[in-house]
Amino acid sequence: MSLSPSETTRLLHSLDIRPSKKLGQNFLVDGNIVKKSIVMAKLQPKEVVLEIGPGLGTLTEALLELNQVVHAVEIDSRLFKHLQNKFEDSIKSKKFFPILADAVKSPIGSIPENCSRFKIVANLPYAIASPWMEALLASGNIPESMTLMLQKEAAERILAQASCKKYNALAIFLKGSFSPGQIHFVPSQCFYPTPAVDSVLVQLNRVKCPFLFSKTSRSLIRGIFTQRRKQIGSVAKGRECNERERIQNWLEKMDLSPTLRPEQIPPDAWQELETELNS
Ligand code: SAM
Repeated sequence: MSLSPSETTRLLHSLDIRPSKKLGQNFLVDGNIVKKSIVMAKLQPKEVVLEIGPGLGTLTEALLELNQVVHAVEIDSRLFKHLQNKFEDSIKSKKFFPILADAVKSPIGSIPENCSRFKIVANLPYAIASPWMEALLASGNIPESMTLMLQKEAAERILAQASCKKYNALAIFLKGSFSPGQIHFVPSQCFYPTPAVDSVLVQLNRVKCPFLFSKTSRSLIRGIFTQRRKQIGSVAKGRECNERERIQNWLEKMDLSPTLRPEQIPPDAWQELETELNS
């Protein structure tokens, strides 16, 4: 059950917490959205679920009631203490594993590395949505699915297709590992305090053979996208010698015209650039 806005205010007051804008502390106060997140995540009993930013524990409680094993990463020590008290029994019975950390530095919390059987369900703090996703991909621990509450504009960016104005490097990296599923619009009144932006729940499913970009190619592609509207041939000329050659070989092998702009090149083609860098 989610708390109403007035119950949330009272609880925050009793914990002596004033919601921080910087930490994206907009708490869910709409039970239907909590339910919707869970339905979209298609959870079976006793699955391992990671929650980023559990906050007051509204979504956490729903996940634990569904008999999930929940790992969570919370940066705010006051909320962390509250979670430890609220879910003391679940912690003792090894059903809840919260850690106090920055999710960008600990993108999968206490889930063991190389664990491939876990799902992520999270109402993300919007400021860290992109760096956390980058860190998750860089960790190589790709969950079976992610059901994420995102700022509407951020969702549009990560789902953007080639030739679209919002297409960007992170959309390319994510496309290597996930295919998009259901999307659900969430009005700002579903949160307390009410944010100035609209939100959406986005479901992403792991593809059969995830393609992980290396640190080198992620940095190169990110660099190229800072000149997204320039012709790729000219962008290549501006790179140092080794990278220039690799980009030119890649364009030739892929039969891509040097007059194309980075924003016109589809995700699959960028995966071949990784292959070229590794050759
Ligand atoms: N899950 C709760 C809910 O749905 O009501 C709270 C979501 S609120 C949008 C975001 C939460 O993420 C807050 O509890 C905030 O303290 C936490 N947070 C912010 N930055 C974080 C970070 N870098 N790492 C981990 N948690 C963070």
